[in-house]
Amino acid sequence: MHDVYDVIIIGGGVSGLTLAYALKDDFDVCLVEGNGIGGKILTANIYGRNVELGPEEIIRTKQVEELVKDLGLADRIVEPRTTSFSVIRDGKFFFVPPGVAGGVFRPSLQLLRSVLDGLFDLSTLISILREPFKDLTVSQDVSVKELFAAIYGEGFVKDFFEAVAGGIYAGDLSEMSSEVYFPYILQIKKNGGSVLRNLLKKKLGFELFSVYGGINLLVSRLRERISARADIVYAYARNVEAEHESYIISNGGRICRGRTLALMVPPYQAPFVQGYHDELMRARNYIKSSNVAVVVEMYPEMPPHYREISGALTFPQVYGVSGLTYYDTKWSISSSDGLYTVKYFVPFSSSLDEDAVLKRVGMFRDKVLGIRRPLHSVVKIWMEAMPSYAVGSRMALDEIGKNAMRRGIFLGGPWMLSTGIASSIGNAIKLSSSIKRYLNKSSADQDAGRI
Ligand SMILES: Cc1cc2nc3c(=O)[nH]c(=O)nc-3n(C[C@H](O)[C@H](O)[C@H](O)COP(=O)(O)OP(=O)(O)OC[C@H]3O[C@@H](n4cnc5c(N)ncnc54)[C@H](O)[C@@H]3O)c2cc1C
Repeated sequence: MHDVYDVIIIGGGVSGLTLAYALKDDFDVCLVEGNGIGGKILTANIYGRNVELGPEEIIRTKQVEELVKDLGLADRIVEPRTTSFSVIRDGKFFFVPPGVAGGVFRPSLQLLRSVLDGLFDLSTLISILREPFKDLTVSQDVSVKELFAAIYGEGFVKDFFEAVAGGIYAGDLSEMSSEVYFPYILQIKKNGGSVLRNLLKKKLGFELFSVYGGINLLVSRLRERISARADIVYAYARNVEAEHESYIISNGGRICRGRTLALMVPPYQAPFVQGYHDELMRARNYIKSSNVAVVVEMYPEMPPHYREISGALTFPQVYGVSGLTYYDTKWSISSSDGLYTVKYFVPFSSSLDEDAVLKRVGMFRDKVLGIRRPLHSVVKIWMEAMPSYAVGSRMALDEIGKNAMRRGIFLGGPWMLSTGIASSIGNAIKLSSSIKRYLNKSSADQDAGRI
């Protein structure tokens, strides 16, 4: 243990871990984690099978790819089993073509299939096809609902996108910032361009992958590498005090002291930073959180219509279940037992217990999906699971972050618009550069003072 660390990182989710990993070779780092390393990432072993109770697929960005390679996990990358999905309307499955969940229509046979199936009615279809010819410029951040209604029409949002994007983010599209969730689409519209034409030119969209054996592997490799060079303290930080240009973290007794402080915890879990309360409260107006229960069910054989239900997203207002992903046996330790897994996401607004979750999923499974009872079910209730960023958040949070930085406090993770693993990793790497600059500058200033 050091008397004074260069950096204290509170929060050992993927954001805090990536930050510690990026700083550990150059500075004295202490990572403080209060619950379990990995945060929302949680690979469980159920009936000998690895199943993700938290995130299950990662967007492939350059930074993610470099990190995965660095950690020796490149050969573990597998195609996710949950990339295709359907929406269910009036008890009927509609296949959702790739890309559409991201707000882009790639011309393909699959798209034709959905259109022929009746995923969109005629007027919505005409409105979508008119997109390249619409004279539409959006000058500022608007809600996701407003943006997509303007681009593809109200019908597109109501009959389809509300379920898909609202399900993925467990949020309300009429409040969510398009600048945070669909920056590439907003940018096209800020320039008055067409999404379809841009897609054809630049191949908009993204690739996803999973980690064979579970995303926990990413967490355990990060922890191994970090603990070789930095300290990890398992304690829940309850109090932060500034003293002589450093910060003291405590929870009854002192945990550690540092020259700088990186908050890699969700804002709703960090109301402890003294003297920083007003900004925290202001940030809260822009960052809300939603609760999600995850139910994993094991079946002795592949459920009927498994292809159709693969990642089916349903209408929360109708069934109370916003997502359903089919998981196959690819990760099983032994595939000879023939067990199959289905995963449901259940959003909820206040409290919900296990029995209530199982009841809701049971009704959906029996009535809508017509699947037989599972062998085994596991429920994981994630309170304040997903941060949901309101319109205008990017500018406001950037400003709050800059003010904090002047005082040696660095806001990361869900503070800074992290909506998934890839953005958590990307933002943590960006933050590590700011911290390096800050510490190097303050050392240079001190040296200059000494001369
Ligand atoms: C059910 C579910 C499914 C998801 N699916 C996907 C997906 O498929 N793909 C994707 O990219 N993303 C997905 N996400 C989102 C993704 O999991 C998160 O964006 C990401 O894991 C957040 O990482 P983080 O480190 O920023 O925050 P967290 O994981 O929340 O980590 C914060 C850490 O801080 C700790 N902490 C909090 N307060 C304190 C304190 N006072 N003292 C000490 N420690 C503290 C917590 O214990 C936690 O470990 C999903 C999330 C959920 C819940």
